[in-house]
Amino acid sequence: MTEIKSVKDLPGVGPKTAEKLEEMGMDDLMIIATSSPSELAAIADIGEGVAAKIIAAARDALDMGFESGLKVLEKRKKIGKITTGSKSFDELLGGGIETASITECYGAFGSAKTQIAHQLSVNVQLPKDQGGLEGSVLYIDTEQTFRPERIQQMAKAIGLNSEETLKNVYVGRAYNSDHQILLVEKAKDLIKEKNIKLIIVDSITAHFRADYVGRGSLAERQQKLNRHLHTLQKYADTFNLAVYVTNQVMAKPDVFFGDPTEAAGGHVLHHAATFRIYLRKSKGNKRIARLVDSPNLPDGEAVFVVTEEGIRDA
Ligand code: ADP
Ligand code: MG
Repeated sequence: MTEIKSVKDLPGVGPKTAEKLEEMGMDDLMIIATSSPSELAAIADIGEGVAAKIIAAARDALDMGFESGLKVLEKRKKIGKITTGSKSFDELLGGGIETASITECYGAFGSAKTQIAHQLSVNVQLPKDQGGLEGSVLYIDTEQTFRPERIQQMAKAIGLNSEETLKNVYVGRAYNSDHQILLVEKAKDLIKEKNIKLIIVDSITAHFRADYVGRGSLAERQQKLNRHLHTLQKYADTFNLAVYVTNQVMAKPDVFFGDPTEAAGGHVLHHAATFRIYLRKSKGNKRIARLVDSPNLPDGEAVFVVTEEGIRDA
């Protein structure tokens, strides 16, 4: 038996199927392994039986092995952090937003999700001793709210050259959920070439919610979103970069106790994001960030402000 190193080595995958899978951005064993037979069958134009066998082979081939805690610790030491611009917000996050993870901010309209995206796009370019990673940014804008002027404003405020800072932000405008998926899947070369250290998807869920309406399409939506997040997580791990995604909240008027809002995207996002932050408006330009479900940090809250200069301590 030949060793299975890539998708084209899988039994059942001929040259034609391999080409199709690559075209669809499914040229990765993990993505195949986490697909469903019906999904794979539709994408590759093969029977569901064949698809099921391909998926099983991909699962077998993957190294699902264990590693020692020490090795995990070694990896953790390489984790970088990007400052938010606010000390108390950074402290809440254990120093800033982390590489090799997905950080999700969810909150109502105007809660500062997009402002944080802009601020991180500037701050990631700072030297390491100033809270940056000396890297550039891939910015997927799904709501047409990216503003180059705002980047320039924030860059100037911390003494960076505003034009140079803008040059290091690579913006992709996604027009629907499939386009959003494609933009991310085609980004691999750019990530390597341009030393991308931060990927932003603002918003991760809006197009999915608009494109998959009604109960019948819920499963498909969650599956696609799941794979999309998986691709992002894979980039985060492979290239040791940070991923920041935003998520609007849905009103749930039938809930009378607790918080009447919940993040869109359901349990898929819940499991994918390593850090989840709930943002809400307070008085004036104050915003409250609450850390929800962190793997190693206490839950808590931080207050910050959005000023002309950007995100700052309150
Ligand atoms: P969300 O993405 O969560 O809907 P935003 O990040 O767009 O919200 O936040 C919008 C808020 O940010 C505005 O209501 C305003 O208070 C603040 N803001 C935006 N631009 C500026 C600016 N140049 N100076 C000060 N505050 C700003
Ligand atoms: Mg926004």
